[in-house]
Amino acid sequence: MHEMGKGHPECPERLAAIQDRLIAAGVWDYLLHITAQPATREQLLRVHTAQYLDRLAVASPAQGHVHMEPDTAMNPYTLNAAYHAAGAGIQGVDLVMQGKAQNVFCAMRPPGHHAERENALGFCFLSNVAIAAKHAMAVYGLERVAIIDFDVHHGNGTEDCLFDEPRALMVSIFQHPFFPYSGEVPKGPNMLNVSMPRASKGAEFRDVVTQQWLPALHEFKPQLILISAGFDAHLEDDMGSMGLVEADYAWVTKQIMTIAEQYSERRIVSMLEGGYDLSALARSVTEHIKVLSDA
Ligand SMILES: [Zn+2]
Repeated sequence: MHEMGKGHPECPERLAAIQDRLIAAGVWDYLLHITAQPATREQLLRVHTAQYLDRLAVASPAQGHVHMEPDTAMNPYTLNAAYHAAGAGIQGVDLVMQGKAQNVFCAMRPPGHHAERENALGFCFLSNVAIAAKHAMAVYGLERVAIIDFDVHHGNGTEDCLFDEPRALMVSIFQHPFFPYSGEVPKGPNMLNVSMPRASKGAEFRDVVTQQWLPALHEFKPQLILISAGFDAHLEDDMGSMGLVEADYAWVTKQIMTIAEQYSERRIVSMLEGGYDLSALARSVTEHIKVLSDA
């Protein structure tokens, strides 16, 4: 029920499209489905400041919309959705760490990778992936958590929340120059930011993964892998200007699984970020989940 106004691309139909495609592809019935619980304030405070969390709560409208910035609005249901989206990642971490699932895909919104410690931005309110990473460190004592971000936009929020966290390694690609116009200069030594020019296609993307991401991940030996799974670098997605297709998302998911098999006891929690062409999003997520579920 979180929506940001008529015609906004980050819309509830995104999740419906994913569900429809998973059903049509015959995958849905083979998956374990769990409804996420909301994150607690204590869990959110590992990443965000109390002042920011209070600011969100105060801004939450009883009716209509309130804009946190021009692209990012709250309706009466947004805050609850944001708490549950952050909670999905936390619950995903619990499931894989307790051996109740090998990996998890969180079909949730609002997304998170643009949300900074004290700032909502780019359709994001809470830094879902950073919150999940900090949960894994605090509760399970993990010392090496890898974050892989293949959204077309730079994950400035995740970087802002984790650049001073030596237990985290973030590897990402993003179209540049492009919103949010960050990433070219990494904020910390644990940030492997790879910018790509517009119109980059699968071959260039696979080169970056093979030559830059994978060596860094082998060296880091992650105990847990979190994915900022944005699908807006898809050829058919007008939000970005890149040329990835479903096969590229399946391929990168396989590469990530190989790393997970070697170092993290196959533990992967993948969290939905962008992806705004409903058909391309649904097809790409389905291929991603097929690989994750070994179907
Ligand atoms: Zn994006």
